[in-house]
Amino acid sequence: MVALRAAAQAMSVSRGPIVRVVGLERVYGEGDVAVRALRGVNLTVQAGEYVAVMGPSGCGKSTLLNVLGCLDRPTAGTYELDGLDASDLDRDARAAVRSERLGFVFQDFHLLPRTTAVENVELPLLYGRTPPAEQHRLAIEALARVGLGDRAEHTPRELSGGQQQRVAIARALVTEPALLLADEPTGNLDSETGADVLALLDELHGKGLTIVLVTHDPEVGARADRIVRMRDGRVVEGAS
Ligand code: ADP
Ligand code: MG
Repeated sequence: MVALRAAAQAMSVSRGPIVRVVGLERVYGEGDVAVRALRGVNLTVQAGEYVAVMGPSGCGKSTLLNVLGCLDRPTAGTYELDGLDASDLDRDARAAVRSERLGFVFQDFHLLPRTTAVENVELPLLYGRTPPAEQHRLAIEALARVGLGDRAEHTPRELSGGQQQRVAIARALVTEPALLLADEPTGNLDSETGADVLALLDELHGKGLTIVLVTHDPEVGARADRIVRMRDGRVVEGAS
């Protein structure tokens, strides 16, 4: 038991950061209309950290999150995700990385409307190797983790905004991702339901989940371990 724990510790020490970004650039368009959204971003996030990315509108927060989430590819620079070089993957490889290592939460939930909560949560498992009965069991378990075990058969329109966002968090967690990414997850919620969602993120972080969240709300940022400040496509504070 002791030897096992020592081995596990040695592995986690040698594993290094979950996110290591060096000199990241992202240019939209070409020539006269080119927009340099990221201009040499450096960022490191360790396993178990909760990081809030803040900065004025247009400074590149969503662009950075899209690259971290393998939704988009950088124009230059390197991105290592949990030891994997994710800088230059093709579309299929990025899709595989997203389904195996990443969870996403968006401002507007992105749930399928006429689909029950449990079916929404099962979605990320459909393309993997999990047998159907197991998919259902894992989805119910993920809903229980976000406090919605009793709402599994409800469709999004039968749920409040806060509950819908919790379903989206369950969907993000059902694959046991190495990293949870959230872009303004409380942006569409009133302050009370927003607080519930933030409390849930605190709880998940307490259990070891690594979180990178984008927000413009200082109260949201204050809950994170670290604030990464961006300006004009660069990280100007809190890069590591
Ligand atoms: P933030 O999330 O901090 O508000 P974004 O990452 O959305 O900033 O945008 C950074 C810059 O890139 C802005 O100038 C924005 O207008 C531009 N931008 C974002 N997405 C695109 C796109 N798909 N095509 C062209 N320009 C874009
Ligand atoms: Mg944005």
